[in-house]
Amino acid sequence: KECGLVVTVINCSSLKVRKRPLNRKEMGKKEGDIITTEPNSNAITVHETKMKVDLTEYMEKHEFVFDSVLDEGVSNDEVYAETVQPVVPLIFQRTKATCFAYGQTGSGKTYTMQPLPIKASQDILRLMIHTYRNQGFQLFVSFFEIYGGKLFDLINDRKKLCMREDGKQQVCIVGLQEYKVFDVETIRELIERGNATRSTGTTGANEESSRSHAILQLVIKRSADGSESKPARMVGKLSFIDLAGSERGADTTDNDKQTRMEGAEINKSLLALKECIRALDSDQGHIPFRGSKLTEVLRDSFVGNSRTVMISCISPGSGSCEHTLNTLRYADRVK
Ligand code: ADP
Ligand code: MG
Repeated sequence: KECGLVVTVINCSSLKVRKRPLNRKEMGKKEGDIITTEPNSNAITVHETKMKVDLTEYMEKHEFVFDSVLDEGVSNDEVYAETVQPVVPLIFQRTKATCFAYGQTGSGKTYTMQPLPIKASQDILRLMIHTYRNQGFQLFVSFFEIYGGKLFDLINDRKKLCMREDGKQQVCIVGLQEYKVFDVETIRELIERGNATRSTGTTGANEESSRSHAILQLVIKRSADGSESKPARMVGKLSFIDLAGSERGADTTDNDKQTRMEGAEINKSLLALKECIRALDSDQGHIPFRGSKLTEVLRDSFVGNSRTVMISCISPGSGSCEHTLNTLRYADRVK
């Protein structure tokens, strides 16, 4: 593997789509698979059933093309190799890479995201031991969520956190625990603990997790002289964002005020995210970070050498047609 590579590309993003298999619930409802993929041309087609005024049905096809299309036969290992593995060596070269999972609740975001930081830390630790031996690199992990515009530590009892900026465009999340890690098992435990904390939330309801963005960060640090005794400074960062369910952004007319406010916040953050990624790719000077808490928190991941990978997750069933089209249209607009 080539690791000593000098990076010249700044702000580069890629868009992937992952389709999960039909599940038992969908089969039980006799939902058909309405998605066809052509992995060779990276095209994906949604076959929508529509009805004329005389009640006869007809099909409407919607075709999209992305950087890669991962169908239901693609394993989590292959998703890792396709999305995150290529950027791992870059974070030793002052790059900040961010991987997002976008999509409706139940489309496979958490299933897709959960293994990625575990596999990435395995590769990071390998590089630290073999390629960058004795150079004083250290690996840290932190895991927090944005819920209703507020920050909570997911591996420290949902402690409330606040964000500050240090004037040098570095974001500082006050109170966030950063765990120094030496082995993959510890990372695995921290991630599982964090995900469990997330999904039980404050009310214990499982659907809470669909209303929050979970942010896991792997940070590589090194002290100026590479020794362990001096304070270590960040070299690069790899962030994994399991976004709130995209359909939650539409909860803005719900009867419940809390739900409505959360829906508005989610809607705002997903729109702001799209605008930021678009602005980065088009090299325009102004990046609209201020649009939401999510983009403010990620600000330092977008400036300088940055990479973003967006994995749009979709459900294959006919009952999800509208949400699936919304997801693919969102991803299409990021281009
Ligand atoms: P989300 O986080 O988007 O709400 P989940 O990741 O929790 O969705 O996925 C919903 C369900 O579908 C889970 O039971 C998960 O195990 C399953 N699932 C998701 N993607 C896949 C896949 N590619 N292959 C097999 N099962 C999957
Ligand atoms: Mg989830």
